[in-house]
Amino acid sequence: MQVVTEEESRPCPECGTEIRTDRRFTTWCAACDWNVDPEGDEERHVQGRLGRARRVAARRHGERLHAEVGGDDHAPTARTLPALCAYALACAVHGVTLALVVGGVWCVVYGWGGLGMPFGLFLLFLAWTLGPRLPRLPTEGPVLGRGDAPALYGLVDDIARVAGTRGVDVIAIDTAVNASVTTCGVRERRLLTIGLPLWELLTPQQRIALLGHELGHYSNGDTRRGIVLATAYRSLTAWRYFLAPAEDPSPTEMAVALVCFVPRALVQGVLTVLDGLTLHAGRRAEYLADSSAARAGSTEAAVGLLDRILVADSAEVTLRREANAPRSARRGTDRPEERAERLWDVLAADAGSIPEHEYERRRRAGALRGHRVDSTHPPTHLRRERLLSATPVPAAVVVDEERERRITGELADARSRLARQILRDGFAG
Ligand SMILES: [Zn+2]
Ligand SMILES: [Zn+2]
Repeated sequence: MQVVTEEESRPCPECGTEIRTDRRFTTWCAACDWNVDPEGDEERHVQGRLGRARRVAARRHGERLHAEVGGDDHAPTARTLPALCAYALACAVHGVTLALVVGGVWCVVYGWGGLGMPFGLFLLFLAWTLGPRLPRLPTEGPVLGRGDAPALYGLVDDIARVAGTRGVDVIAIDTAVNASVTTCGVRERRLLTIGLPLWELLTPQQRIALLGHELGHYSNGDTRRGIVLATAYRSLTAWRYFLAPAEDPSPTEMAVALVCFVPRALVQGVLTVLDGLTLHAGRRAEYLADSSAARAGSTEAAVGLLDRILVADSAEVTLRREANAPRSARRGTDRPEERAERLWDVLAADAGSIPEHEYERRRRAGALRGHRVDSTHPPTHLRRERLLSATPVPAAVVVDEERERRITGELADARSRLARQILRDGFAG
């Protein structure tokens, strides 16, 4: 049997320096940056001059913000004017819904028995479907209450104390290579969603940093998460969805699309302006959340977490590959349960085999791309740099083996359930 070696070596076509290659990853040169960002090169080529100008402006803004947030842990100034404008715009969006309700009621009352009535009911229906909705707690998928996972909740509580906030009310586990926090319903219940593929890639200390980052979002007043803004976003997105033209339009649909053109452009415009107004606050919040991650899990763990996020898409590749592997190619006496049991280990092994030069390439590619115009997160290399340039902080929260074992036990059910789901339905996240 021929042994396939993954690593080889060859001279760089630009500068001749000997470079190591790994056929699973992009070949590039650390000495002259040859081929450091092939995807980005393509994008830059497509975007042309306008794209370049926007990128330069975005980079300038990003560098200013990065300088402002600084290496140390002091809070950068929040900008009040854009926040106020965003708030006013969000209120205007809700005003439209209110106008639909008032108009609908007026038509029903004054047009009782006549044509006004169905029209009024139609307006009320519009207001009901397109109006603000608060995020709801999930009902499907693995959802853990306090009683189901006392050790995990205890850990979250400890980290929340360090982040200067209270813990969460519900923890959901899903298949995203991500994690997030939301506030749900009128009772403002806190929901923490942990993406198992990301969780499984992290060391215990990096998991604490991850939770520290997420809980940090509660304590540093991220305007995007404010209820007025969040619901306005939701309404706008619903409007955009309803106004979107049909894919293969009939003549009637084409006429409808023509009529919808102006309101659609208006909705898109408002969304773009809102994005612009909240961008600074959003990125600032990410930097502050990173500080909270470092305080909870240590600077080292927070940096390690960012490195893992840098290569998160290779975890998606692994999961997609495992989900799509044809039955015939599945190893050995594979029963579905055995494969499901192995899935997370395969994922961890794949991630563990990513060479350092691939991490370095991604950091440099990020630096080359600069700030993305539309990205809510600051580039990972700047977040990393900021953590490294601050005085390193030790972990405020640590877990001993016993606690770690209990948390793993509490997640065991979700682990096998989600692995089976990925292998059965494919990987969508
Ligand atoms: Zn070179
Ligand atoms: Zn964040």
